[in-house]
Amino acid sequence: MIPVSQDYPSEIAVAAEPADERVWVPQAPNVWFRPLMINTVVGQWCNLLKVTASGVVSRHRHPGAVFGYVIAGRWHYHEHEWVAETGHFVYEPPGEIHTLAVPPDCDYMITMFNITGAMVYVDADGNQTGYEDAFTKIDMCRAHYERVGLGREYVDQFIR
Ligand code: FE
Repeated sequence: MIPVSQDYPSEIAVAAEPADERVWVPQAPNVWFRPLMINTVVGQWCNLLKVTASGVVSRHRHPGAVFGYVIAGRWHYHEHEWVAETGHFVYEPPGEIHTLAVPPDCDYMITMFNITGAMVYVDADGNQTGYEDAFTKIDMCRAHYERVGLGREYVDQFIR
């Protein structure tokens, strides 16, 4: 018989797209994220990204691999020929710099992204303009959830 330990983190099972719109945390104009699981040991987070307008979302580099699944709409990287359509899986290799955009014929997308390490935002010349990691994500969630009345602790259910 396999010994049963209770010494492991608790599971998470939630509706990915929340019924309460306040759960979406504003990230930039027309850009929102919804935390699903934020891993403070590895430095990794799984979230939904929602964009509600066509156009460039961000230019960025990530030092770790990114995995994505498109739930609604479509998007692409200026640096690649492919378009990530609803239902598509995307793997983004570490190291590359790319520019995420929602094409002109689409003004809405939701994608689940699983990100390890950081998002490093860069300008057209490759100079860093900002970054995000598991901890900046938690900070953004706390500030937003406090502002909208869910409370700073609302994000705790997604932190491991
Ligand atoms: Fe990326």
